[in-house]
Amino acid sequence: MDDMNNVPADKMTCLTPNDKPPFKFYPAEKESPFFLVSDHAGRMVPAALGNMGLSAAEWERHIAYDIGIREVGEQLREKLGCVLIEQVYSRLVIDCNRAAGHLTSIPPVSDEIIIPANADLSATAKQEREEGVLHPYHREIERHLEARDIDGTIFVSLHSFTPEMKGQKRPWDIGLLHDHDSVSAHILRRLLEQEGTLCIGDNEPYILNAQNEYTVPYHAAKRGLAALEIEIRQDLIQSEEGQREWAERLARLLPLMWKERKGGIAR
Ligand SMILES: [Zn+2]
Repeated sequence: MDDMNNVPADKMTCLTPNDKPPFKFYPAEKESPFFLVSDHAGRMVPAALGNMGLSAAEWERHIAYDIGIREVGEQLREKLGCVLIEQVYSRLVIDCNRAAGHLTSIPPVSDEIIIPANADLSATAKQEREEGVLHPYHREIERHLEARDIDGTIFVSLHSFTPEMKGQKRPWDIGLLHDHDSVSAHILRRLLEQEGTLCIGDNEPYILNAQNEYTVPYHAAKRGLAALEIEIRQDLIQSEEGQREWAERLARLLPLMWKERKGGIAR
């Protein structure tokens, strides 16, 4: 940071004036403990990067974004009346759930697809992606968290995962990822089990920790903030019906989870 003092802010970014800001902020409509973030909601690309060397078909795939989660997040936010911050650029531009400089931050390959625009990037080009997308998004989250009552907040990070990875089928309908706060995840798991037929992953299909991920460790673990990371299988939320069903389910169960978490009604 220090050695960049002489660089005008508008120079150190992959965005041009016609590009959209890297996040969308949806304010709370009432007092709510829920603080929703969606790192992989979007698949926009800064104009300067064109199609990044990928075909239209590849832009439809899970490598570009978390299929279905933007719609689930927006509907969930509407039902809960809470804050939502969405990242709008493709994770192929820069993965906002990775620390700057992480091996998979600006992936040269994703699920065996080569990303031509990410090959052999200069340090400056990497920095422009960080300054254009990654840092402003996390600064926005930080700014809103700083204004909140930490005891009365739970940070909920929303994602979706591909049903198949490297030929392996993934059986889970939903995965709850947790590290510093396992209590919230375990309460929600029990509530989801009561739904009957769901296959629920516990730190599946991914393990949440500060090496693999960024958003929850960076914002929630360091503040001692209650947190949940939710992963929904993409084929379940590809249709509008599925998106509505999952938004309704989470809007019903998250308040029950929080009530129990805060020592409300024992069930
Ligand atoms: Zn994701």
